Amino acid sequence: MKSRRDFLHQSILGSLTAGTLGFWAKATEWFDVPEKGAFPVVIATWDNQKATQAAWDVLSKNGRSLDAVEAGVRIPEADPLDTSVGYGGFPDRDGNVTLDACIMDEFGNAGSVNFLEHIMHPISVARKVMEETPHVMLSGSGALEFALSKGFIKEDLLTEVAREAWEKWKITSEYKPVINIERHDTIGMVAIDAQRRIAGACSTSGLAFKIRGRVGDSPIIGAGMFADNEVGAAAATGLGEMVLRTLGSFLIVEEMRRGKHPQKAAEEVIRRLARKYPKDCADNQVGYVVLDRKGRHGAYSLHPGFNYSLYQGGQNLVVEAGSLFAK
Ligand code: ASP
Repeated sequence: MKSRRDFLHQSILGSLTAGTLGFWAKATEWFDVPEKGAFPVVIATWDNQKATQAAWDVLSKNGRSLDAVEAGVRIPEADPLDTSVGYGGFPDRDGNVTLDACIMDEFGNAGSVNFLEHIMHPISVARKVMEETPHVMLSGSGALEFALSKGFIKEDLLTEVAREAWEKWKITSEYKPVINIERHDTIGMVAIDAQRRIAGACSTSGLAFKIRGRVGDSPIIGAGMFADNEVGAAAATGLGEMVLRTLGSFLIVEEMRRGKHPQKAAEEVIRRLARKYPKDCADNQVGYVVLDRKGRHGAYSLHPGFNYSLYQGGQNLVVEAGSLFAK
């Protein structure tokens, strides 16, 4: 039989627990309040204003963030002047253009292609992998076969400009990335639509003149990009080998899950990179763009020179990100 004291203890404990739960429910609601005028919003690596414009065109019509990021990323993919993404991307050291891309929707579904050749829009192939197969990632000739079976057209993606750059590179064959000189124009884009659905996409031709078969961070879910509707999303640019070793985009989302502002989360992950790989960080660039569920954003890089595109509140901006190291 319960004594009166036991009974009192239990009642007090019970009401404390209920109180705590109630408090947490309220607090969660309170913490989840979006910034005023925050949605829709889209952020992308580098000066990709035409891409954020394309994404905004979808978002401003009450469209889905997944459609917005796909539409946005398709812009540099088709741009022959963008030498790090899709058509016009610099080839590997044997002269082949090989492409990597990934995409995630608001349900946490993911699709990805890597080492894909001859297809101008790898991001759309990645979306088909996500939506029309039981898999997350397809690679190389299998990814190409799949794309062709879905009606994508086989094209020569090596432009004259890219071919000339490759011919020139072959004279020295120096395989060393130089911060912000060797161009990192990979597009990583994350967005939240008016219904607060979060999606992300990332596309690249990878490191210029890489060894054939090299795959970077961009098609790896959690490295080049990660989106979680409960928390937010992040996308990366820079030397893929460094992003891969720390699963940077996933880590940023996890930092936000623990309560960090997107800016602080990006800074934390860049600092960790510098702590773990001081040598590699000395002359290589890595940068992130980040959004959280409230519509707040952040961006940070190892070295100066990283800018990002932000479309929010009807304004399409290109902003210089902060960096860990000075000039
Ligand atoms: N992250 C890309 C890669 O390593 C390169 C880039 O950002 O330009 O493949």
